[in-house]
Amino acid sequence: MRVYVTGNITVDETWAISDIPKKGSSIHGNKISQDIGGKGANQAILIARCGIETTLIAAVGNDSNGSWIREQIHAEPLRLLPEKLFPCHSDTSIIFNSEDGDNAIVTTTVAADSLSLAEITQALNGAQPGDVLLQQGNFSVEKTRSLFELAKAKGMIAIFNPSPVKPEFAQLWPLVDIAVLNEHEADLLKPTDVNTLVITHGSQGASLKTPDNHQFCAATPAQAVDTTGAGDTFLAVMLASALRRQSEIDELALTHASKAAAITVSRPGTYSAFPNTAELNALLES
Ligand code: ATP
Repeated sequence: MRVYVTGNITVDETWAISDIPKKGSSIHGNKISQDIGGKGANQAILIARCGIETTLIAAVGNDSNGSWIREQIHAEPLRLLPEKLFPCHSDTSIIFNSEDGDNAIVTTTVAADSLSLAEITQALNGAQPGDVLLQQGNFSVEKTRSLFELAKAKGMIAIFNPSPVKPEFAQLWPLVDIAVLNEHEADLLKPTDVNTLVITHGSQGASLKTPDNHQFCAATPAQAVDTTGAGDTFLAVMLASALRRQSEIDELALTHASKAAAITVSRPGTYSAFPNTAELNALLES
């Protein structure tokens, strides 16, 4: 069984600045880190580190950031398609952290938007019935819908994590087998007609609802330093735990996910905070 993740991959640059700049101002800042990011890439990297055969279908630009992204992904147990570089800048998130603890984020989506349905369809050529198609909210509603329709036609399992959220995503539930949302997304999209529904509740934990199972899994206590990436870690490890055991999403999958998310929140950064392969294997065998 293989997991196909369609979504975005970005370069995340974090800058320390004294204060969020006013219109027309020119300020000094300090670039403090550069990491791989994007919800598609985050989830694909973590699923692959759990030992599941994973393909990330995401667009990388033909700029120096694109070469850097490819080098980073080369170090992960992950296949990245399409192989071509797109004639645009790679998607980037610039995260400005001000001294008072506030932040402002600027993100581009040009590369993700240039990835056509035909290119994704081609990358999914080898997908078999029973393989997984996992999508987040970075594509248009139309592209997201078409990909879930394709997944259904191929007999794949469709998983949706509608983040960043758009109200129109609520139309897609009939095409989705497994939905994973945080409280805010669930309030907006009111998922129904979904066989397996997982709602995460931050530091409280997560709930699971299936036709014959209703569970709540408390969060694993953690000294939270930076909660960014908790949701991506939770989803990836929950899915990998179930796939490794050829099981449905169950209580053990939520427990594994909550232990992994506790590691991510206890470390600064996002990619640099994710548990590594050894940590994930130890956790998934517990
Ligand atoms: P993000 O967008 O920040 O990645 P999210 O909003 O998608 O996250 P959350 O509901 O915040 O997702 O968190 C997902 C899971 O991570 C929770 O169900 C919980 O298990 C774990 N988690 C989140 N915050 C904490 C915390 N402070 N301490 C321990 N575990 C946490």
